[in-house]
Amino acid sequence: MSEFNPFKMAQAQLDDAMELLGLDDSTRTFLRQPMFEATVSIPIRMDDGKVKTFRGYRVQYNTSRGPAKGGIRWHAEETLDTVRALAAWMTWKTSLLELPLGGGKGGVTCDPKELSEREKERLARGYVRQVFPLLHERKDVPAPDVYTNQQIMAWMMDEFESIFREHHRGVVTGKPLQLGGSQGRFDATARGGIYTVREASKHLNIAPAEAAYAVQGFGNSGQNAALLHPKILGGGKLIAVSDSRGGVYNKDGIDPEALVHYKQRTGQVEGFENTEVISNEELLALDVDILYPAALENAITEENASEIKAKLICELANGPVTPEADKILKDKQVFVIPDFLANAGGVTVSYFEGVQNATNYYWDEDEVHKQLDAKMTHAFNAAFDSHKRHKVDLRTGAYLLAVQRVAEACKLRGWV
Ligand code: NAD
Repeated sequence: MSEFNPFKMAQAQLDDAMELLGLDDSTRTFLRQPMFEATVSIPIRMDDGKVKTFRGYRVQYNTSRGPAKGGIRWHAEETLDTVRALAAWMTWKTSLLELPLGGGKGGVTCDPKELSEREKERLARGYVRQVFPLLHERKDVPAPDVYTNQQIMAWMMDEFESIFREHHRGVVTGKPLQLGGSQGRFDATARGGIYTVREASKHLNIAPAEAAYAVQGFGNSGQNAALLHPKILGGGKLIAVSDSRGGVYNKDGIDPEALVHYKQRTGQVEGFENTEVISNEELLALDVDILYPAALENAITEENASEIKAKLICELANGPVTPEADKILKDKQVFVIPDFLANAGGVTVSYFEGVQNATNYYWDEDEVHKQLDAKMTHAFNAAFDSHKRHKVDLRTGAYLLAVQRVAEACKLRGWV
């Protein structure tokens, strides 16, 4: 098998959509590549006194509909191509949700598990010192993603404000509440995903309150999905969970709250009471109604797609299903809620955060949940109509809407 390249995967998905839309060649060529990308070196004084240089990236894929928007990932295998792919998916995501934003993404190649808190702070500030000319609430707004969090956003905002000696609360989102964060941002990605599961279930033969579900990846998105599934859908049985260190399984059900506490205490899920050990591969192949891939890209591939027994997959992670696997799942009539719809709750509440920062007026949590539900439900229904109307899968239906809007914005600006 050739090496997995997420950017090639993002381009393949886009090509399919552009072909169906019949876009002209100049538009296709323009949309297949990022508009702007930067690679930087970030020298950091480590706790042992030595200087280590990290590679950082920021990609602004398309800004025709508004400022670039997208998270920053810290990961040992982060590459420019991963960041390009994620920036492309952000472009289609903000368009699908009709947010007045473009698509961007950032990353640093590093192993966050090996960094002390002080080293993390220096890396966050060092990243901003290298890319600050690109950032601004009207240019490009980062947010947390894999292995970055509220604290890292606070340091990044502070560094940016220190450079300009002005308040710029909207320069990043996913901030702590005390520094202009939004109520409801913390669990927004998972919450939005659960709203789409609720809507999809209405069209499938699934009663989510009685459904068995499994979660792959137990970080921000995975933990909140495990907790919110029963809260929002009125029930359901969590039967397996995995993280990068291993997985746990109990066919009679696992208490999500107790497991989250256990993970917070021990840093892993393995060893949780009354569970058997399960591998990541076994988890993906379990006989569940709903599967939440919430780890990283490339989890379900042509190698294991035929083993999938779930009826519904809610892609909380970005790019967990490869295009080859997508075809296999389609033949097996597995209903897939695609990443740029399923996990759009995070950027939607990030957008609400930006609106609150710009107006300097803050909403309560109920208001955030209500507005998020309205946005997610509207986007799901629009994508579902498109999938029915064009007789394509939901991913392609969603792509058609999102790409069409971006192509129109580029055309109206005279870019293509
Ligand atoms: P996170 O860092 O909080 O959690 C990632 C989790 O995945 C960790 O529990 C890690 O142990 C686990 N993991 C890593 N490799 C694994 C493997 N091979 N098998 C099983 N588990 C593995 O990250 P997150 O913010 O929850 O993001 C997860 C996914 O959701 C990513 O694809 C991210 O791009 C996407 N996403 C996140 C947000 C957000 O707001 N946090 C928004 C949109 C999309």
